[in-house]
Amino acid sequence: MDTSLRCHNLGYPRIGAKRELKKSLEAYWADKTSQTELLKTAATLRTQNWIKQSQLGIDWIPSNDFSFYDQVLDMCALFGVVPQRFNWDRTGNVGLDTYFAMARGADAQQGVPGASAMEMTKWFDTNYHYLVPEFDENQPFQLASTKPVDEFNEALALGIRTVPVLLGPVSFLLLGKSHHSATNDDDTLDTLLQRLLPVYASVLETLSVAGAEWVQIDEPCLATELTAKQKTLFSSAYQTLSRCAHPKIMLAVYFGALRDNLPTACCLPVQGLHIDAVRAPEEVEAVASALHPDTLLSLGIVDGRNIWRNDYAFSLSVVREARRIVGSERLLIAPSCSLLHVPCSLEHETQLESDLKSWLAFADEKLTELAHLAQLALCDDINNSPAALRLVWDENQMAIESRRKCPRVHDEAVGARVQAIAASDIRRASPFAERRLVQQNELNLPLFPTTTIGSFPQTKDVRSARARYKSGLIDRTIYDNFLSEQMRDAVLWQEEVGLDVLVHGEFERNDMVEYFGEQLSGFAFTENGWVQSYGSRCVKPPIIFGDVSRPHPMTVRWATLAQSLTTKPMKGMLTGPVTILQWSFVRDDQPRSVTTQQIALALRDEVRDLETAGIRIIQVDEPALREGLPLRRSEWANYLTWAIEAFRLATSGVCSETQIHTHMCYCEFNDIIESIAALDADVISIETTRSQSELLNAFVQFNYPNAIGPGVWDIHSPRVPSSDEMGSLLRASAEVIAADRLWVNPDCGLKTRSWDEVRPAIQHMVNCASAARDSYNTEMALAAG
Ligand code: GLN
Ligand code: ZN
Repeated sequence: MDTSLRCHNLGYPRIGAKRELKKSLEAYWADKTSQTELLKTAATLRTQNWIKQSQLGIDWIPSNDFSFYDQVLDMCALFGVVPQRFNWDRTGNVGLDTYFAMARGADAQQGVPGASAMEMTKWFDTNYHYLVPEFDENQPFQLASTKPVDEFNEALALGIRTVPVLLGPVSFLLLGKSHHSATNDDDTLDTLLQRLLPVYASVLETLSVAGAEWVQIDEPCLATELTAKQKTLFSSAYQTLSRCAHPKIMLAVYFGALRDNLPTACCLPVQGLHIDAVRAPEEVEAVASALHPDTLLSLGIVDGRNIWRNDYAFSLSVVREARRIVGSERLLIAPSCSLLHVPCSLEHETQLESDLKSWLAFADEKLTELAHLAQLALCDDINNSPAALRLVWDENQMAIESRRKCPRVHDEAVGARVQAIAASDIRRASPFAERRLVQQNELNLPLFPTTTIGSFPQTKDVRSARARYKSGLIDRTIYDNFLSEQMRDAVLWQEEVGLDVLVHGEFERNDMVEYFGEQLSGFAFTENGWVQSYGSRCVKPPIIFGDVSRPHPMTVRWATLAQSLTTKPMKGMLTGPVTILQWSFVRDDQPRSVTTQQIALALRDEVRDLETAGIRIIQVDEPALREGLPLRRSEWANYLTWAIEAFRLATSGVCSETQIHTHMCYCEFNDIIESIAALDADVISIETTRSQSELLNAFVQFNYPNAIGPGVWDIHSPRVPSSDEMGSLLRASAEVIAADRLWVNPDCGLKTRSWDEVRPAIQHMVNCASAARDSYNTEMALAAG
């Protein structure tokens, strides 16, 4: 008799514990290493990861979870879905350089025009970004890569028979966009699917020939809202695949509950189904009961999206429930989704406090947890189990208990303050119509006021001064003086160029979330907790482990120093509660909404302190507001309610004279424009330059009540637009937004740009506003006759 359940891993982080792949990729792109070197780094990482997983006791080890850039882009390469602008000749395989051109764009070269990169968007509700496949109307599909079978063979040579991972055909198509139809309508989907399936089947066949017994096919779209036709397409697609010779299929769904897709998912002709039992433990029983008696169930019981240690008591209760229904032969346990979304290993953390560290589990620790759970699940009486297993259990439960009871996690004062939040705390003292009059009186701004979003270039000098300070090479005073100099120069330059509302430049900030997290209680930081965001880009999210409070003011010193240098209004600059939440690993022991309220209360104190210190305009950035939207539209309203209340809680404690700004970017705003209005910020600056007409459409349909600055300079591009170009964008905005509510600003912070771009562009912007004022005044004079 087996003494443990089988363990299945859905994917392992591929960037490397010390970001080896990132470094190798960037060296290759910069022409500093050869392709051979890059391939070698990649192969070494894969080998290490396979061996590690096998040593940790994982039975189903994934392959093809590695990627040089993105797993969706890999699918495009696999099926030859290469947009025409990349000049791939459709013969042979898609080479690495074409692949990277699709991801990063290609410069024009001797007579060959350049090509813009494929669009990137968020992978479901994670902070990972995938490249959006572009399907042509007559999109041909053909085998154009041998990556899945190559990597399978590579592992087999090490003696490891892996489970190759492929994105499923339906999700692959649903995640793409088709060029010629305005929407991804279901008929296009159907046509593309019929064309894709035979080629998809041939990939499975190759894997089967190579000796793969199982493949994992990911269909995360089964956790989202589907039309009736899409559900039918799922069924028919897998019917088609089931008629070909192929390895057995473990169909993986993650990131949420199946809900009304449950009958579809459970009846697909596949040999195994994986579900996300972390996000939807309540569905385990229904799924286990609905599955065909021959179908395996993989229970995603260890959280692949967060860094907390698993509570074995809870997990075992879920596993036992499933075991009772399907038996242990049909049951596997797994992380809820690929471990791509968590850092590699706690082994590389030397600075975390030991209690906090004992509450955490990164990828390697999660795999160990699986191996433990697999044994514990088959042990009916822990007291009569081998001593080693008892130790594992005790140690786990002790860590869970210590987190539950730790005074650093639970701060009664914070709890009481959250309890006491009143309706009046989330409402400004007067409505916008009144506020704008008193603010105008106070600030005396011209028509079309000009400002920037907050940060100025983070030059080499700024970054190296920070690095030297952090490593102890320079002391606090020297670093402070350096920052003050930078700030002073920036303030004086802004006055000179003629901006109306100034910023201090954010030179002291490394990252807009980390900067605040480092000063708030309840946050912790890792040394190597890297998670891939896209391509070679990684982020190191802070960990919110406890109740959040603000021991001391965070930005008041810099803001007042900056204001003392000028008589023009200086904006105070804060990151909003929802963005801080979204870009951190958050607590799983209380609702996200409560954590956000706590952050909002801390920010509310900061906003008040800035006001008391004489700062008359305060900007609270919420670029991640839209990112927090749940996968299913039916849950949007609930999220938007608490997210907006948190912003209002942070910003409503000031008097009517104080002007609150906010800023948003990276997103499509049209479908949440009413919620953006409900933030009740006096002024919002917003990214538009890439899809201006689309955004402005929202204002035709919805009468946005407050002031707004649609960006007139796309700072994501190194191009410096002319004053006329900005002027035409401003005029387009003035068509749909009243002139006296329009601001003039770039569409995002300037930290990634150079001063050589910023100086002329901002000068053009100021000129553009001044020209707009002149022509507005002329028009008014003419109208007055
Ligand atoms: N104030 C921030 C900055 O200018 C805003 C950054 C952002 O929108 N992501 O850098
Ligand atoms: Zn921005």
